[in-house]
Amino acid sequence: MKKILKRFNTHFYGIKFNNEIKIKRNLILRLDIINRCNLTCLMCHYNKDYNKIPLFILNKEDFEIILKDIGIYLNEIILSCGYEPLTSKNFMDIISFISQAYPHIKISFCTNALLMDSKIRTEIIKNKIDSITISMDGVTRKTYEHIRKGSNYERVISNILALNELKKQYSLDYPKIIINYVIMNSNMHEAQLMVRLGKLIGAKLINFRKIAPFNQEIKNDNELLDDNKAKFNFYREKIIEESERHKIPIHLADKFDMKSEFTPLNNYELTLNDFSKIMPDKNEKIFLEKDNFKKKKTNNIKIKSSLIKKYLECIKNIFKIKNSSFYCTKPFNEMFIDLNYNIKPCECSSIILGNLKEDNLINIIFGEKFNQVRQNIFKNKGDPGCKNCFYFKRMI
Ligand code: SF4
Ligand code: SF4
Repeated sequence: MKKILKRFNTHFYGIKFNNEIKIKRNLILRLDIINRCNLTCLMCHYNKDYNKIPLFILNKEDFEIILKDIGIYLNEIILSCGYEPLTSKNFMDIISFISQAYPHIKISFCTNALLMDSKIRTEIIKNKIDSITISMDGVTRKTYEHIRKGSNYERVISNILALNELKKQYSLDYPKIIINYVIMNSNMHEAQLMVRLGKLIGAKLINFRKIAPFNQEIKNDNELLDDNKAKFNFYREKIIEESERHKIPIHLADKFDMKSEFTPLNNYELTLNDFSKIMPDKNEKIFLEKDNFKKKKTNNIKIKSSLIKKYLECIKNIFKIKNSSFYCTKPFNEMFIDLNYNIKPCECSSIILGNLKEDNLINIIFGEKFNQVRQNIFKNKGDPGCKNCFYFKRMI
């Protein structure tokens, strides 16, 4: 009897959970719109050989198909996962289609900002892009260009400054600027200064991400934090001090549990001299509709956390899952479409839950296979698709 009741509860809360996502339009869709990048950063999976693989590029018509059923349930669409969206000639068409056909959807993307020229900046403003995550892993030209191979420090900074000028000129609070700083041995000493630079460019958040062991070169070059634990702990404290001083929120990995101390050998000259010499790029004149000045109506309603907890409790009970304090929230309100139209819970998962050419997104995201991943995520081993997930390994 108890068993039946438990199963009934899971089923009941499962249905409620799915409805909650639908009613509150709380889904996030992530996808790449092209499989190309204009840089070859030293810590990236991307390398020059990518130019040899067939070009995959989405256009406005693809988005008409993708969003046909799921569009009304989406809260946010993130137009980049592993490549550079501004290398696509369709970028402007795509954002303009989404913002006109689905004005409730928040649009965001991640970029290295090298190609964020005046035309792109105008479209960003006109289409009310909600947030832009800019990848910058150094505050001096030398460090930045050493890591972001193929980029140009001056161009990137002047593009960011010009975007800020537009926001100021029209008194707009969008797009939010977020900085992604991949922290490694060769840029740890500059990370604290990134907080100050972030303040100057109006960043709302700085993500200090641990470098992931994507290629052998970074291991050979001694860039990994695991090989520089004491040094990381030392600079981590400095980053926290700066973030408190400038009141800028940060995401930062936990310190390593170790006693040995680090003493810096070099007296690095920590200044923002390179940054302060740069002027904003020239902007085009833009004519904004009245509507552009209004705050975008989005679905910021969160799914009731009590409901998620109840759903999870039922799953834990029924599968007799013990001691699982961790769960990754991605499979609960996110989905990812890969270059072959396969649907996965996120870009790191290896499990395929359906294909857009064979089924529609609604059936896939609210279907059996997706629910199974949600249940598996509570088991200590997680879902089989999460086995090689760098984030999962860090969380358990
Ligand atoms: S900009 Fe991003 S996608 Fe391109 S090479 Fe650098 S890290 Fe990789
Ligand atoms: S644990 Fe990793 S692979 Fe699994 S859903 Fe979360 S982010 Fe994706």
